[in-house]
Amino acid sequence: MRVQVVEDDPVLSEGLLHILRRAKYDVAHEDNGMRADSLLAVQDFDLVILDMGLPDMDGAEVLRRLRHRKKSVPVLILTARDKVQDRVLGLDMGADDYLTKPFDLAELEARVRSLLRRGQTAGSALLQVGTLSLDTVGHLATLDGKALDLSARELNVLEILMLRAGRVVSKEQLAGQLSGLGEEISDNAIEVYMHRLRKNLQSGDVSIRTMRGLGYMLERQ
Ligand code: CA
Repeated sequence: MRVQVVEDDPVLSEGLLHILRRAKYDVAHEDNGMRADSLLAVQDFDLVILDMGLPDMDGAEVLRRLRHRKKSVPVLILTARDKVQDRVLGLDMGADDYLTKPFDLAELEARVRSLLRRGQTAGSALLQVGTLSLDTVGHLATLDGKALDLSARELNVLEILMLRAGRVVSKEQLAGQLSGLGEEISDNAIEVYMHRLRKNLQSGDVSIRTMRGLGYMLERQ
């Protein structure tokens, strides 16, 4: 399991590297946002631990660029206690989890384990929620064994929702991840995709709930 730690505080970095290496992860460390971005562009990791306040390029921009390249690697962001907006921005940009400094290293280790588990499911070809299945390699969605008639873009939206089943996905997150595929996505377009997906899902045990002002959630009924 390869973990990229991007943190410029030397004391915190040392603690992070120590605990992660002790847990037998293959850990790379970078203390500069610009260099981390270059590295993430050419190398694959199973998890990225990303500080938000970094020299040369802040963590939010590193994350935005990472997601723009359609990399679905799990990202855990580290934010300062007084920077609530960093946390919100980070989650909107597609971070999977966050820790507020100062945090307990044992807590970090637990979050890392959980994200890596989630990442392994995400990396496999077949996603399953209830009787809904999505083969992300073969680009085929089935409900109760019957193939659904969905466009490539609708399959992308479904994949994002399935990877976060039971959790809210905001319109900004959806637009951010979809725009990585080379097109600006409007709120209206997202609503149209949701409408189409719901029509396809209506006979099954899975539904897409609208969370007013927050986004969408795919869940089992
Ligand atoms: Ca920092």
